[in-house]
Amino acid sequence: MAEGHRRILVVEDEPAIAESVAARLRAEGYEVDIAADGPSAVRQAVETAPDLIVLDLMLPGFDGLEVCRRVQAHRPVPVLMLTARDDETDLLVGLAVGADDYITKPFSIRELAARVHALLRRVDRNTQQAAAKIVLGDLEIDPVERRVHRAGEPAHLTPTEFELLVHLAGRPRAVVPRDRLLTEVWGWNESASTRTVDSHIKALRRKLGADLIRTVHGVGYALEVPR
Ligand code: CA
Repeated sequence: MAEGHRRILVVEDEPAIAESVAARLRAEGYEVDIAADGPSAVRQAVETAPDLIVLDLMLPGFDGLEVCRRVQAHRPVPVLMLTARDDETDLLVGLAVGADDYITKPFSIRELAARVHALLRRVDRNTQQAAAKIVLGDLEIDPVERRVHRAGEPAHLTPTEFELLVHLAGRPRAVVPRDRLLTEVWGWNESASTRTVDSHIKALRRKLGADLIRTVHGVGYALEVPR
């Protein structure tokens, strides 16, 4: 598969899993680096600027959530989080921690590779839609530089949060159904459910202000134009 020279950081403290994931991704044409604990994951993410991070939740040093926070504060990068249990995934989705997708152990390497492709395709497709700067009241979105400011303050959004905001901002005040957001932002990624949409909306509200996005119960969300 011709994926160019995309670089992936695999963060996993179990060597057998790390090696088999890395081997599969390398066989598919990716450049792969491995980190085995929280601090080295953050250091390597800064040094190698990966296109995507496969991130185990439970790690020595500090956990995957802290890695996700530190890396995303530095530069937005898609994160595929590995969890040990389904209920752990549910909890993380509820917390809106900034991962773009989740996969529960034990997983098939084939399934993981498919998720990696899907996530990169989604980011690529959305990047190509980059257009002019969007200004709505005190909200400013720069799709080229992928930066967001509210009232002059920068907000650090994950790639998925950014795409979701851009889609809502494209039709300000209009109610966008959750399933339409799934199609347009997630590209019907099978792993994504409308719950994933809710989780990312929660994160946007936390980072940009609770007043920015209105919930229309049973339907979807609308971006309010801030003053
Ligand atoms: Ca682990």
